[in-house]
Amino acid sequence: MDRRDLIFEGSTKRLFATERDTHLLLEFKDDFLDDNGSRKTRIPGKGEVNAGISSFLFQYLENYHVPTHFVERAGDRELLVRKLRMIPIEVVVHNVASAKLAQRFRLDEGQYLDFPILEYYLKVPKLASPQINETHALALGYAKAEEMRTMGRLASKANAILKSLFDRRGLLLVEFTLEFGDAGDHICIGDEITPDNCRIWDKKKNRKLDRERFLQDLGGVEKAYRELSDRLTRAM
Ligand code: ADP
Repeated sequence: MDRRDLIFEGSTKRLFATERDTHLLLEFKDDFLDDNGSRKTRIPGKGEVNAGISSFLFQYLENYHVPTHFVERAGDRELLVRKLRMIPIEVVVHNVASAKLAQRFRLDEGQYLDFPILEYYLKVPKLASPQINETHALALGYAKAEEMRTMGRLASKANAILKSLFDRRGLLLVEFTLEFGDAGDHICIGDEITPDNCRIWDKKKNRKLDRERFLQDLGGVEKAYRELSDRLTRAM
């Protein structure tokens, strides 16, 4: 698929138009940016590893009939995806208390939750990602009731599937964030599923294998991302 014009450049990815109006190329950059945008770094090879992990996990979910925007891996750091009308709400699924959740609710970091917590955050320029609930989404016109229901259902289903996959690889899916969009006739998962937007720990040692290594200056970011990719994608 030919790459056409750059239509969007975000902090970690770029979107290109293709010869088909219904499809886009999603390119993963090597860049890292912290949450308030003040610290930036580049880890050579991160984009390629993230493209590989995302492709693998999207295909894995599709095998369990969870719709995603994934069409095919289109290059070392590129995926061909369906063009979506993005719903400006990030869905965060928590299975285990991350440091941030622990701080908010006075839990111990690493504490298992009795069942998954789903949270919704608005992704709108100029707003600092406020947490919202369904009534905010509906009253402020950011999503329809049916879209909220579908996002909740797909996030829970994806969580059950991915949690069990990670568990079999000796990994703990602590928390992850999904974005959704409308492909015209159905709602599907878009964006990425990578260690940039998931919290993933080694089950035995609770060693972090995700973006927290960058945020907390733990070092070994590249090694951790590659290890995660190898462990996830190796044959069962
Ligand atoms: P951001 O800085 O907004 O997080 P990213 O670097 O993640 O940006 O860039 C990717 C952008 O592309 C995001 O805004 C995301 O919502 C959007 N996006 C992801 N998948 C699709 C898709 N299939 N169709 C349209 N937009 C998408």
